[in-house]
Amino acid sequence: MPELPEVETVRRGLQPYLEGEELSKVTLNRADLRFPFPERMADRLEGARIISLSRRAKFLVAETDRNEKLVMHLGMSGRFTIHDPDIPVQQNPGEFAHAHATNPKHDHVEFLTGKGVRIVFNDPRRFGYMQMFGEADGDPFAEVGPEPLSNTFSGESLYEAFRGKKSPVKSALLDQHVVAGLGNIYVCEALFMAGISPHRLAGNVSRKKCDVLAQCVREVLERAIQAGGSTLKDYAHTDGALGYFQHSFRVYGREGEACSACTKPVLRKVQSGRSTFFCSHCQR
Ligand SMILES: [Zn+2]
Repeated sequence: MPELPEVETVRRGLQPYLEGEELSKVTLNRADLRFPFPERMADRLEGARIISLSRRAKFLVAETDRNEKLVMHLGMSGRFTIHDPDIPVQQNPGEFAHAHATNPKHDHVEFLTGKGVRIVFNDPRRFGYMQMFGEADGDPFAEVGPEPLSNTFSGESLYEAFRGKKSPVKSALLDQHVVAGLGNIYVCEALFMAGISPHRLAGNVSRKKCDVLAQCVREVLERAIQAGGSTLKDYAHTDGALGYFQHSFRVYGREGEACSACTKPVLRKVQSGRSTFFCSHCQR
């Protein structure tokens, strides 16, 4: 399931092909994904120019010169592939290619740009979705907390959000009102890096520790985005699928392995239905 760094990587991959470009044709190959497509979606997008492609939480947001926003979520298995007529697509040998191969029967949405680039959304499990918002619809993200990589997110904003909270700090970090787009993996990693037990009550994290935690959240995300960036350089040589990459975590998925800091075994506990990986020695 794509997390924030994967979505950011997809955004960076798509940006040069979409930003400033006109959509000359939009094809929907079915009526819905997880939800029905927006009414007249193709009509509303065809002939429009994409002014910007940004990311909010785990959503891609394409803003058009018709004052509308196309909001896209990758769900569990959504991928974009870029078919640039100037770059020949090679059939790729090896495992990397296998992991990235997309089955054309799951190509659900196709965007053709004025420059002849075809951008295809492929999603076998169809948990992804697309929505459109006009000016009258207001800000679709009004209820979402600060972006973890923006200046509005800080130790202070965390401390304010945590104050009086009786829930564990791990659940608080997964709350989209507290910070946008953080998923299970990066919450585990940031808490490990900050030396904070996932079971500590959010309201009991000191202001100083909140500063450390905010910094660690940024750092784990930025490192993953960097790892994703290196896959972007390769994508043109494979089949053009964006945004899925392998990188290693310090505690996530490492139950029973030696903690990289103290060598005691990494523990796994289930917290509100999700696995939490942590070191009880390093995290207090
Ligand atoms: Zn440890």
